[in-house]
Amino acid sequence: MSGQTKFLLQESQMPKAWYNLQADLPKPLPAVLHPGTHQPVGPDDLAPLFPMELILQEVSTEREIDIPEPVREIYQLWRPAPLFRAHRLEKALGTPAKIFYKYEGGSPAGSHKPNTAIPQAFYNQQAGIKRLTTETGAGQWGTSLSFAGSLFDLEVLVFQVRVSYDQKPYRRAVMETYGARCLASPSNETQYGRSVLAERPDHPGSLGIAISEAVELAVQRDDTKYALGSVLNHVLLHQTIIGIEAMEQMQMADAWPDVVVGCTGGGSNFAGIAFPFIGHGLRGGPKPRIVAVEPAACPSLTRGKYAYDYGDTGHMTPLTKMHTLGSTFTPPGFHAGGLRYHGMAPLVSHVKELGLLEAVAYTQNQCFEAGVLFARNEGIVPAPEANHAVKGAIEEALRCKREGKSETILFNLCGHGHFDMVAYQKYFAGELKEEAYDEKELAMALSGLPSVVEPV
Ligand SMILES: *Cc1c(COP(=O)(O)O)cnc(C)c1O
Repeated sequence: MSGQTKFLLQESQMPKAWYNLQADLPKPLPAVLHPGTHQPVGPDDLAPLFPMELILQEVSTEREIDIPEPVREIYQLWRPAPLFRAHRLEKALGTPAKIFYKYEGGSPAGSHKPNTAIPQAFYNQQAGIKRLTTETGAGQWGTSLSFAGSLFDLEVLVFQVRVSYDQKPYRRAVMETYGARCLASPSNETQYGRSVLAERPDHPGSLGIAISEAVELAVQRDDTKYALGSVLNHVLLHQTIIGIEAMEQMQMADAWPDVVVGCTGGGSNFAGIAFPFIGHGLRGGPKPRIVAVEPAACPSLTRGKYAYDYGDTGHMTPLTKMHTLGSTFTPPGFHAGGLRYHGMAPLVSHVKELGLLEAVAYTQNQCFEAGVLFARNEGIVPAPEANHAVKGAIEEALRCKREGKSETILFNLCGHGHFDMVAYQKYFAGELKEEAYDEKELAMALSGLPSVVEPV
């Protein structure tokens, strides 16, 4: 084994601006439409949900957006994040490829999500907001926003999907430690939650339902806004700090990726590592292959339809054009909770339509197998979501081995798996089912897509 393993930036080298891919796109994003009128929405339509700074970021085409100083100060609790060369994994695979990974699990919440939770809380506090509502599936986003709320004196109300609320009590305990209030969704606190419970009192919940509940409460009060942990342009923007740092670190390593790999739930950590490289390529730099890895049981990019759809089950959010499995699609209960959303970020979807990324899907056992191999060689136990990126990177490394190519692979290790050890136990016990991808349910969910006349 030779060569350096860890590439660290100084605090003073932490990026001062996020990178906005919208500045470099050859074709702009399709318009966002009002859920009622199907007309393009303007900033004012979104004002009940988000503070104006975030809305302006949502539609901005400026290439660089400054990171406010108070946000940079908090980022320094765990940033700049390290980049590693996975020498031992390379050796175990017998590949001539060089594998690098950016590690985002060192944040207080253990994932990349505080990269956006902190600025979202900051901009809300600046706008005089007192309370934030949000949804969480597995709990990582709820944890991150609770952490951010505690630093900016914001009340945080989290609607946690019923199944994970029951199955993962430790997640709730972390959120409460940060001072947040956490409710199982569907809940009795909202009209929408009550309507769902009236139909099915034991409803296990879904992200789409929890979003509807959080949105309903946010629009009712002037001092309350809604925060989303993925999918939206401003969320993806905040995550680009991952890729901007990684570019610096690849230069320190005297290397440059031929392939960039990330896992995709709503698309934010993937965009975070990939967009700065895509933009660099669009501006004339080298163009690495960009690979998005998603779960076979919730395959929005590889098998979803690129169409206008709602972001939630209650159809309160605007319509965006994205790869979707339909807003009523309920993915089977596989163990990468963060990857169980029916839609893909409109920006990631658009980038795929432009032919700037490739998407692949793997089953959960394939991904856990990759994650275990990674842990036994590199030491970090990845989050089940991150295992998809690990799997994608390993597949690329094995391809290099077959082809005798010494390519450079970079992937985003977006979080650690310390809260997911039950899933690992089940994997070792052979109890992780390969959930058959339900064609019938998908066909039904897709038949319910709203019919929209696209604005030209
Ligand atoms: C939430 C989460 C994801 C999925 O969200 P993206 O927006 O696709 O990044 C992936 N990995 C981890 C560790 C998460 O917490």
